[in-house]
Amino acid sequence: MKVCVLPGDGIGPEIVGEAVRVLEALRADGLKIEMENALLGGCAVDATGEPYPAATQKLAREADAVLLGAVGGPKWDSLPRPQRPERGLLGIRKDLNLFANLRPAVVYPELAGASTLKPEVVAGLDILIVRELTGDIYFGEPRGIEERNGERVGFNTMIYSESEIVRIGRVAFEAARKRNRRVCSVDKMNVLETTQLWRDVMIELAKEYPDVELSHMLVDNAAMQLVKAPKQFDVVVTGNIFGDILSDEASMLTGSIGMLPSASLDDSNKGMFEPIHGSAPDIAGKGVANPLATILSAAMMLRYSFGDEQSAARVEQAVRSVLASGLRTGDIWQEGAKRVGTREMGDAVLAAL
Ligand code: NAD
Repeated sequence: MKVCVLPGDGIGPEIVGEAVRVLEALRADGLKIEMENALLGGCAVDATGEPYPAATQKLAREADAVLLGAVGGPKWDSLPRPQRPERGLLGIRKDLNLFANLRPAVVYPELAGASTLKPEVVAGLDILIVRELTGDIYFGEPRGIEERNGERVGFNTMIYSESEIVRIGRVAFEAARKRNRRVCSVDKMNVLETTQLWRDVMIELAKEYPDVELSHMLVDNAAMQLVKAPKQFDVVVTGNIFGDILSDEASMLTGSIGMLPSASLDDSNKGMFEPIHGSAPDIAGKGVANPLATILSAAMMLRYSFGDEQSAARVEQAVRSVLASGLRTGDIWQEGAKRVGTREMGDAVLAAL
C-alpha cells in the first residue's frame, strides 16, 4: 500500500512524525507500506503559491491512502480565500471524492475525568458519527452575497440528491454491522424539504439492512441528547452541516481533542486519515503536542484502507496501555500522571507496540 503523507502546518510535522514512526515499526514487522511526503496547506502556499499544488494532487491520487497532520495558521489568514490553507483541505476532499467522514468518539476509562460532563455519563462511551462531506449547503449552488432592494443579502443552497444520501447511508449501515447494529439518522424534516428526502431515502435503504436497527432524530434534539445521554447512540449518520456541528460536540464529550482520529473515505475504501484537531499554532514547535490522535488516525487507515484489523487493533491497544501506564501530554494531564512531550509519548507507544 502506498501512503501519501501530508504533515501540513503548525504541530502537523511533529505529530505526523510520531505516527510515521509507528508505521515504520509495523513495516519492520512485515507490514507492506510505502510512504511519501508532500505539501498541503500553508507550507504548500509558501513553497508554490497554492494550498493544494499539482505535485501533491498527483501523489494523493496515486496513493491508496493519505495521512494528514493539520493545516492552517495565523500566517496565512489574511491571504485571499483561494490561497488559504483550508482551501487545500476542501480541495483534496473534493478531488479524492471523500464523501464519508467517520469520527469515533471514544472515552478511555483513564480519561473519563477529562470530560466536562460527569464521568458516569461518558465513561465507556463509544460512538461513531458518520458525516456526509462533499454535499449539502457547503457546496450547493446558487450561493453568494449580493445587493437586493438596496441592501446586502447572503444566500446558500441546501441540496442533496438521492444517490448522495444512499451512498452515505450505506457507509453508516456497514459500519453499524461491525459495531452494535444501530443507526440513528439525524435530520430536520419538520422544516427542511432536503432532509425530508434524506429521511425517506434512509427508510427505503434500511430495508436492505434488516439486521441493523434504524431510528431518526431531529438535529436540535440530537444536540441535546448527545450531552444528556450520549451512550444511547451507536452510529449517528447525518448531512454535512449538521454533522460538522454534532461531530465537534461529540468530540468534546471526551474532553480531549488531542485524542480523536478521523477518516474520510471514498467508495473504494481509499481514504484520508487525520486527527480532528487543527494545527495548534499556540504550541507548534514546542514538542508538547499530543500525537495520539494522529497515531490513532494511522490505526484507522490500517483498518479501513488496508483492511488490516489486526495491525489497527495492535496500535490501539498500544495507545491504551500507554494511557494505563499513566503517561500524559499536557492537554490530557491530570494530577498524579506523568507529563511527557510529543516524542516521549511516541517512544512509549513504540515500546508498547
Ligand atoms: P486547534 O484544534 O488547532 O487548537 C485548539 C486548542 O487545542 C489549542 O489550544 C491547541 O493548543 C489545542 N490542541 C489542538 N491539538 C492539540 C494536540 N494534538 N495536543 C495538544 N493540544 C492540542 O484549533 P484552532 O486553534 O481553532 O485552529 C488553529 C488553526 O488550525 C487554524 O488555522 C484553523 O483553521 C486550523 N484548523 C485546521 C484543521 C485541519 O487541518 N483539519 C482543523 C481545525 C482547525
